[in-house]
Parts: sequence; structure tokens; C-alpha cells
Amino acid sequence: MEDIRNYIDGEFVEPLQGNYIDLIDPSKGSPYSKVPASDYQDVELALTSAEKAFQNWSSETIENRSILLHRIADLIEENLEELADAESLDNGKPKWLAKKVDIPRAAANFRFFAQAITQFSTQAHENHNSINFTLRQPLGIVATISPWNLPLYLFTWKIAPAIAAGNVVIAKPSEVTPQTAYLLSKLCKKAGLPNGVLNIVHGLGPDVGGVLTAHPKVKAISFTGSTKVGKMIAEVAAPAFKKISLEMGGKNPNIIFADCDYEKMLKTTLRSSFSNQGQICLCGSRILVERSLYTKFRTDFVEKTQALKVGPPSQERVDLGAVVSKEHYEKILNCIAIAKEEGGKILTGGNSVHPPGHENGYYIAPTIIEGLNQQCRTNQEEIFGPVVTIMPFDTEEEALALANATTYGLSATLWTTNINRANKFARGIQAGIIWVNTWLNRDLRTPFGGVKHSGVGREGGLEALRFFTEPKNVCIQYEF
Ligand code: NAD
Repeated sequence: MEDIRNYIDGEFVEPLQGNYIDLIDPSKGSPYSKVPASDYQDVELALTSAEKAFQNWSSETIENRSILLHRIADLIEENLEELADAESLDNGKPKWLAKKVDIPRAAANFRFFAQAITQFSTQAHENHNSINFTLRQPLGIVATISPWNLPLYLFTWKIAPAIAAGNVVIAKPSEVTPQTAYLLSKLCKKAGLPNGVLNIVHGLGPDVGGVLTAHPKVKAISFTGSTKVGKMIAEVAAPAFKKISLEMGGKNPNIIFADCDYEKMLKTTLRSSFSNQGQICLCGSRILVERSLYTKFRTDFVEKTQALKVGPPSQERVDLGAVVSKEHYEKILNCIAIAKEEGGKILTGGNSVHPPGHENGYYIAPTIIEGLNQQCRTNQEEIFGPVVTIMPFDTEEEALALANATTYGLSATLWTTNINRANKFARGIQAGIIWVNTWLNRDLRTPFGGVKHSGVGREGGLEALRFFTEPKNVCIQYEF
């Protein structure tokens, strides 16, 4: 497979220092390609290119920007197979999942913002002697920094609104999963996106993301990743008064009441626990179950989990593929060891898996743990793997207190047919996203993001277009 190149000023270029990082296929644990280990010099090149492109792109008509975004969406759809192969190879996720979710969603991101920008409007405030109206102007050069769990999906979720709003972008994909970002750069070139509007600089976090965050020419940073790195970005960006949008970690509760639609809940809970090997920020990792249902739920959930197939991501019938990297694999296994030390009982899983022919890949059996209290590390720290805990509760008050007892606040899922209870929890849970009797049911028009240590700001819909523009009030006095 060809080595990856940076995409700067419409060209595919090697990193100036000629340094590369090995890319590892997590399904086999072996290297298969290389990604540039760029540094500040490559970032400077990208900044020069973006600076040059801004004037024309920001004054391009909305219709033309929209047409280009639609064209990129078309090309993503036409290249679905190749992109899904690349995503699965890079990340370890089942290919069917990349084909069904990741790549279609990347196309939908471009399509959505191609339309949204044509509907974006500003406000006017009139009084007896004047009218105020709000101009919303693009910011200039913006940086997007994204993670490895939904590589193209989250990469495009930031780029599409940024360029739709007339900004020029320096995008830094995860160094662990850069393939689809590279393929996207080729599609952008083919679509005729003007040079410099999107620049993709590959490399390690501090060497590229860190440089972008600190650079005075970068006006805003849209970041998705861990809370630890988000905090570092905030510390650098805040004194420079840059705009920041931070989408970070989670420890989401999945709260199950005995009056729920049981079969639907069970099926969905299996997905919300283990989809993408549990590596979705929105996965419910703390399952809280009303005591009267607890024993039945535990039996059925364990049985269904044991029926899940873990195996090579290229196989059609696997439910879980490999986790993303050796480092992450070891981290998850270490978290399971900590859970045992804390007194947790492993009801199923808890071990690595070695499928024939893929013995060195990074596979972990879906794991359910019980018997832990809410204060322990296992229930406080993000694991981001196929590991969940289950805990009983007796009252609504107790469930709500448990749900809110972490520093995170990204999302929560609630299972009940009692509408008053649903409303009470929707208001009471400290999170940015609440699902009632559903999970990962996404409407791209809605605000997306977390509270507490899970996030600052919102993405999605008009929120994203607001983030990527600066409001300016213009007041004109009437002369009658
Ligand atoms: P990470 O924070 O390690 O890396 C994310 C990105 O930041 C990568 O591109 C990385 O290279 C870059 N980076 C690392 N150090 C940096 C620095 N000093 N300055 C600037 N950039 C730097 O996260 P990850 O391991 O790639 O992803 C997993 C995390 O992402 C989990 O915590 C998960 O919850 C979170 N996540 C959150 C959401 C959300 O919407 N809230 C979505 C997906 C993933």
C-alpha cells in the first residue's frame, strides 16, 4: 500500500524532514504503510497555503461552496467500498460497519452542510430609530483535530461546516488512522476544491496539533478526543483568546427501568455497549438497572453478549473486530485487571481473543462486570473499549444520583415507558445528549456535545456554522 502524503496547497507532499511513522494493521498487529511525521515546518507551509486561499474562498458565493460540498459527498459515495476497506484496515472495525455507518455518514456530513449553508441566516433587531443586523463572517484559518475511533466520520463532521462557512482549514487526523483522510484529500482534489481551502497535515499530536493550537494565525480549534488532550488545548488556546470547541471523553449511564420495552432495550443495550468494540464516545459504559429487573437482565444480557462473534474485521459475520492499537489493547486489559482488583466480578469476557490466522491482532472479548460501587476507578474513568459495568438501583433518586456521579457528562440513555419519569430524567441528567428508548439516533440538525469534563461548545446543525463564524453587529440609524 502506498505511503500517505500531506495535502498542502492542493498537492500531495512528503513531510519536509522526510520522517514517517509506521501504520499498524490492528487485525494482525503488523505494519502495512507509513504516515508522515510532520512538524512545525509542514504546518507553516499549510498555513501559507491557507492564508493565500482565504480571500477567494470567503468571497465565493454560497451556491458555489454548496455545489463543491455536494460534489465531495458524491465522490465519497462513489468510493464507498475503497473507503470502507481503508477504514476497517486502519481501525480494526468490521468492514460492514464502516460501510454501513462511517462512510455514509461522512458523505452525509458534506451533504448536510452543503444544504445548511444555503439556509443559514442572521438576526435583525429593529427599534424606533435604528436597525441592528448581525453579520456572520468566516474566521479565517481554523484547525480541526480529530481522533481514531470514527476517523472519516468525525474528520468530515468538522471540515464540512468550516469550509461551508467560508473558512480555510488545516486538518489533523489521528496519526493512528489517517488512511481515509488521505483518500479524502484525493477526492477533494478531484472535486475541484480550490487549492489551500483544505490542507491535511499528518503527524503526532504535539508536533502538528500542538503547533496549530499555539499558532497565532489559527483563529479557532475544533477538537474531538480525550479530556486530557482537550485540557491541554484549552490551556494554550484560552490565553490567546481563540475560539475552541472541545468534544471529549464520556462515562455514559444507560438507565433501565422495569417498565421498559424489554426486548427493544436488550437489543439496543447490546449495541450501545459493544458497537465499534465499545470505542464510541456515546457508548453506555455504566448500565444501571432497576433492582426488580436486575437478575433477569443480567442473565439475558450475559447470554446475548456471549453469542457475539469477535474476529477479523474483514469477515462479514463478526460483531466485534480488533481494538485500534496495541497501546489501547493493553490499556483496556489493564482496566479489566483494575476492575478485578477493585472487587469486580467478571460475568463474561475479561480476556483477549486470538482468532486463527490473526493471533497477533488486538482482540478483546466483550466484557460485563458487576459488584462495583460508583466511586471506584472502573466506574469513574473512561475505558473506551468493549467493557461495561452493571449496577442495580432501587429508586429514581438513586438512579439519578448514580447517573450524575462522574466528572463526565456527554450522553445518557433512559429506558422507561413512564413519560413523567422520562421528562424528569431528561431535565435532571447532567449531559449534553439524552436518548429515551433509543440510542445513537442522530439528527444532524441537533446540537451535539457534552457538559462537565466531556465538552465545551456544541457541534452539529447551525451550532457548527455559528462556531465557525464571528457575529458582528451593525447598527444603522434611520433618517426620516
Ligand atoms: P486523543 O486525545 O489522544 O487524540 C485526539 C487527537 O488529538 C489526535 O489527532 C491526536 O494526535 C491529537 N493530539 C494529541 N496530543 C495533542 C496535543 N498536545 N495538541 C493537539 N493535539 C493533540 O484521543 P484519541 O485517543 O484519538 O480518541 C479517543 C478519545 O476521543 C476518547 O476519550 C473519546 O471519548 C474521545 N471522543 C470523543 C467524542 C465526542 O464527540 N465527545 C467523539 C469521539 C471520541
